[in-house]
Amino acid sequence: MTDLRPRLPSPLQEVADDRFARHGVRLLLKRDDLIHPELIGNKWRKLVPNLTAAAGRTVLTFGGAWSNHLRATSAAGRLLGLRTVGVVRGDELAGRPLNPSLARCAADGMRLHFVDRATYRRKADPESLAAVLRTAGAEDAYVVPEGGSNALAVAGCRVLGEELRGRADVVAVACGTGGTLAGLAAGLGPGQRALGVPVLKGGFLEEEIRALQQEAFGGRRGDWRLDDRFHFGGYARVPPELETFAEDFAGRHAVPVERLYVAKLLYGLVALAGEGAFPRGTAVAAVVTGRPFP
Ligand SMILES: *Cc1c(COP(=O)(O)O)cnc(C)c1O
Repeated sequence: MTDLRPRLPSPLQEVADDRFARHGVRLLLKRDDLIHPELIGNKWRKLVPNLTAAAGRTVLTFGGAWSNHLRATSAAGRLLGLRTVGVVRGDELAGRPLNPSLARCAADGMRLHFVDRATYRRKADPESLAAVLRTAGAEDAYVVPEGGSNALAVAGCRVLGEELRGRADVVAVACGTGGTLAGLAAGLGPGQRALGVPVLKGGFLEEEIRALQQEAFGGRRGDWRLDDRFHFGGYARVPPELETFAEDFAGRHAVPVERLYVAKLLYGLVALAGEGAFPRGTAVAAVVTGRPFP
C-alpha cells in the first residue's frame, strides 16, 4: 500500500496556552492530522488494517451525509484502486444535488447507495445487512461498520496509545463511535489515563466502547472514562460560541481545528482546566484526530 504510507509516529507538540499554564497544566497536541494527506488522522489507523483484510474486494461501509469516514474510505479506494460503496443515511438525499462531502466521495469513485433511516438503523442486524448488500449489488463486499469501528480498527488505534506511552498523564480524544478511544486506552502505559469527549448526544457510548474492547481484546483495557458535557447539542452542531473558540484556538497555535470533533475536545479541555480538574503538574495530550473539510 505504497500510496498509503503514513508519517508515524505522528508528531507530539507542546503548545503554550495560558488557560492551562495558569493551573500548572501542560498541553500537548498529538498531530494525527499529519499522518497522511488524504487518509486523515484516526481514519488511517482504523481503515488500513481493514483494507488489508479486504484483500482487493469491494469495500462497503456506512455513514451520514457529512461523514469523515465515508470520505476517508472513498479516498483510500481511489489511492488503492479498490471499489467502494457508501451506504448513506437518508433516502431523501437521493434525488438532490450532493453536498460537498458526498460529492467528494463520488468524485473519488465511491458508489453511493441511499437508504431510509429505519433501514440504516437496522444495518447491524444480519438479515437487514444482507438485504442492503443485495439492493446495493454488493453481496461479496468486505463490510466495514459505520465510523469504521470494528476489532481490527480498535487494534490499529492501540498503536496511538503506544506512541504516547510515558509522554502524558492524560490523553484526551473526541469520540464518535468510540473505536479510537477503545484502542488508545488499551495502548497507554501504567499510570496514564484516557479521557473521551463524545460529540453525539445519547449516552450509549460507554456500553459500545466496552463491547468494542471486548471484541478486540477480550475484556476491558486501560483506564478510561467519558465526559459527556461538550457535545453542544449533538453531531455536527457548531453553535457560534464553539465556532469562535475554534477560530481563536487555530489562530493562537497555528493548528487547523476540525469543527465536528476536535473543536469540542479542545473546548472541553479548556473548560476542565478552568475547573481545576487536572492537578498541577499534569501533562494533557489532546489527539488532533482530523482536519477541517474542505
Ligand atoms: C471519525 C472521527 C472521530 C471519531 O472517531 P471514533 O473512533 O468513531 O470515536 C474523531 N475525530 C475526527 C476528526 C474524526 O473524523
